[in-house]
Amino acid sequence: MARVVHAIQCIVCPIGCGGEVTVEDGTVTTLTGFTCNKGLAYAAKEVVSPKRMVTTTVRVSGGGLPLLPVVSVAPVPKDRIFDCLNLLRGVSVMAPIAEGEIVVADALGLGVDFRAARDISVVQ
Ligand code: SF4
Repeated sequence: MARVVHAIQCIVCPIGCGGEVTVEDGTVTTLTGFTCNKGLAYAAKEVVSPKRMVTTTVRVSGGGLPLLPVVSVAPVPKDRIFDCLNLLRGVSVMAPIAEGEIVVADALGLGVDFRAARDISVVQ
């Protein structure tokens, strides 16, 4: 039986509880040190399939700014974050852009859209 104990710092809220997650044969068996259910859920996922929200920018033309901030609508698997950034590096959009507008749908087939994080108006 393979047993691994991971030290995890919860990042769900600013308290930053530290704890341990024990994984035996790929299954989480015990969690200690996390003081709420959100932290327990985060820690269990963090050792098996860690994910993060992704924020970056894409090029925009015709607007008052050269770059549009974009954000994933859901967390992305950590091992695919750089693939998403590479995809978004090649994306260019035209103003006007409305906050919340989908910039890339279903990025890399991960089921995660990237949306505009602000408005950008057309500049004459
Ligand atoms: S375990 Fe709960 S209280 Fe502790 S850092 Fe995580 S979310 Fe905050």
